[in-house]
Amino acid sequence: MTCHQKYLSLKTSQKRELVDLTERIGAVLSASGLRRGIISVFTKHSTAGLLVTENESGLKSDFLEVLGQLDNTDYAHNKIDDNAAAHLISGLVSPSLTVPFAEGKLALGTWQSLFLVEADGPRPEREISVTLIGE
Ligand code: ZN
Repeated sequence: MTCHQKYLSLKTSQKRELVDLTERIGAVLSASGLRRGIISVFTKHSTAGLLVTENESGLKSDFLEVLGQLDNTDYAHNKIDDNAAAHLISGLVSPSLTVPFAEGKLALGTWQSLFLVEADGPRPEREISVTLIGE
């Protein structure tokens, strides 16, 4: 077993958006030379998260609509930092994902893509760790 780790850095441009990370994570896997194992993807932020879903514009819009329903000015955290909904979204979609890989490729379903969920953007830098364990 070997372990590779890389950090991806990206800029977000909207208050809330889904950013497809599949290609970038696939490139980390290709560069590692590993053939089978698991990838842990983790975002080091409490106002962003990770999600697996289909990359279809209507569906991405639907996700943002559902997440927008968490907006509520009465949250306790808003008294000290006006972004409680962003933290709730981050926690609910999860800050981490584990994805298997085989034959040197992400073992995703046909319609699955890996997304960063920006919940409190735009941000000049979001950092995501990609850790591969395999052989
Ligand atoms: Zn906060």
